[in-house]
Amino acid sequence: MPVDRAVVEEIVREVVLKRLGRRPANSAPTLAVHASARHMHVSRADLDVLYGPGHELTVDRPLYQEGNFAAKETVTLIGPRSRVISNLRILGPLRKQSQIELAFTDAIGLGLDLPIRLSGDIAGTPGAFVMGPKGMVELKEGVIRAAIHVHMNPEEAAFYGVKQGDMMKLRIGGDAGVTFNRVLVRIDPTSRLNVHMDSDEANACGLHLAKEIELIK
Ligand SMILES: [Zn+2]
Repeated sequence: MPVDRAVVEEIVREVVLKRLGRRPANSAPTLAVHASARHMHVSRADLDVLYGPGHELTVDRPLYQEGNFAAKETVTLIGPRSRVISNLRILGPLRKQSQIELAFTDAIGLGLDLPIRLSGDIAGTPGAFVMGPKGMVELKEGVIRAAIHVHMNPEEAAFYGVKQGDMMKLRIGGDAGVTFNRVLVRIDPTSRLNVHMDSDEANACGLHLAKEIELIK
């Protein structure tokens, strides 16, 4: 009796995935989509100035990605012509370089023309003054709009058939349905499947009401 081709494929896929220690192919990994409010990543040297030498960040709330957290500490961003964003949240842990991620609306309010960049890629971006309770630092660069991206571990990347730096699509259904066409793939063994978009993007697609969300290669 001829065996149905789809059945064979399914069996093969399951065997392969089992051997690799993964879930069966028919169960997609759980996808979390989160809006990142504007925030700052801070270096040791800059935190020393802003909050005093040796100050350690205090965890206010753990974030979805292991080890990341919203800190209790906030700063004030001072842009051109003294336009200000206060209560700008610091996210931990500390980074090598300080960086501030704002939404497009924030950038317009500040009068800054911000490029869309992948986190960490800040060469040639605008700077700003940042004020903390103990002092002020001038960032020569590092204010960006963060590119929408998806974190995943290597197993999840294998499930979708993507590699580091690939672009995927994110389809959001619902009344304000939107498809994002350039969702950048970031793979790390410690990651959990998770799309990060900024607050403008979340508002535009009605993320808080979205019922169908689909990540597409
Ligand atoms: Zn992220």
